Amino acid sequence: MASTQGVKVHYEGTEVPADLPDHHEWCAGRVRDIQAAHLANTSEGWIDVAYNALVCCHGYVFEGRGLHHETGANGNQPLNRAHYAVCGMIGDSGLTQPTDALLNGLRDAIEWLQQYGGAGPEIKGHRDGYATDCPGDPLYAWVQAGAPRPGGGAGGVRGGGGTGAQSAPPWPGEYLQLQDPLLHDDNVRTWQQRIADRGWPLTVDGWYGEQSRSVCEQFQQDSTANGWPLTVDGVVGPETWRASWERPLS
Ligand SMILES: [Zn+2]
Ligand SMILES: [Zn+2]
Repeated sequence: MASTQGVKVHYEGTEVPADLPDHHEWCAGRVRDIQAAHLANTSEGWIDVAYNALVCCHGYVFEGRGLHHETGANGNQPLNRAHYAVCGMIGDSGLTQPTDALLNGLRDAIEWLQQYGGAGPEIKGHRDGYATDCPGDPLYAWVQAGAPRPGGGAGGVRGGGGTGAQSAPPWPGEYLQLQDPLLHDDNVRTWQQRIADRGWPLTVDGWYGEQSRSVCEQFQQDSTANGWPLTVDGVVGPETWRASWERPLS
C-alpha cells in the first residue's frame, strides 16, 4: 500500500508473563511465537504475522510485515486497508500495564510508519470500528489521549540538558556496534540526544540508521582533528560513546 489513514494499536490479548519486564531475552522468541500462531491459523489464511510491527515492554520495535504491506489484524479488509497495525506486547492477564518504554516504542513504530510508510495522522485502537476488547483498557486510554510520549517531548528520553563536557553514562554494550539499520532502542536514543544537544544535525528517533552512522563518522573525524583521536568507523563503540559526553567542544 502506498499510504493509509493512520495506525491502529493492538495488544496480545492473552496472558503475558508478569515477569517479562525482567526478561528481554524472551521477546524475540515471543514475536516468533506470535508469527507461528498466525501462520498456523488456516481460517485467516495469513501469509505472515498480521502486524506491521510489534513492540515489547523494553521499548524494542520488531518489524512484522513492515512498511507498505496490508495488515491482517484490523478485523476485515476495508479496515486493514485503512490503517496499519502495531501490537504492544502486553496481555489481558499477567503483564497488562504498558511500560514507559513500550509507549515510547509504540510511538517510534507509529512515527516510522508515518515517515517511511505513508501512514496518515490517525492513531486508533483495534476496537475502533470492530467489536473487540483489543488493545485493552490501558493502551486504549493512551490512544484516546493522543498516544503521547511518556514525559512529553518529541524525542522521549532526554539527555542531561547541558551541552558541555560531563561524565558519560556507562557504555550500554556491544550491540551498539552492530551497524544494523534496524537496530533501535533507548540507548541509541540516548546517544542521539547527546549528539544533537551538542549541535550535530541528528534526528532523535532511536534508530541507528544511515544518518546516525554519518553523524557518528563526522563526530569521530571532528574529535580526531581536535586532539581526541577516535577510529572513524561510524560505530558507537566504548571510546566514541565516552567522547560523546566527555570531550570538551571548542
Ligand atoms: Zn487487535
Ligand atoms: Zn523486550
